[in-house]
Amino acid sequence: MEVRNVVETLVWQNLDQVLDRKEGACKCERCRADIVARALNRLKPRYVVSTTGEVYVKAEFLEPQFQLDVITALAEAVNRVSNNPRHDKE
Ligand SMILES: [Zn+2]
Repeated sequence: MEVRNVVETLVWQNLDQVLDRKEGACKCERCRADIVARALNRLKPRYVVSTTGEVYVKAEFLEPQFQLDVITALAEAVNRVSNNPRHDKE
C-alpha cells in the first residue's frame, strides 16, 4: 500500500504541454523538477491509497476546474523557473 498525491501525478502529466507553450523554456531534468516542485507547493495535495503503486485518477480530479488549477500553477512555475533557472545559462 502506498499513499500517493494525485496532484503530483497530474502535474507531471501536464508538464510537457505547458513547457511546449513557453518559448525558450529550459527542459532539462533540473528545471523540470524545479517546475514541478514549485507548482506542487502552490496546489493543495490530494492523497489516495494506491495498492499497485499506480495512481488511479478519479473522475473528480479530471474536472475542468481542477485541471485548470494544475495548468495555472504549472504555467506560473514555468515562467519563474525559466526566468531564473538554478543552473548556469547556456
Ligand atoms: Zn534547465
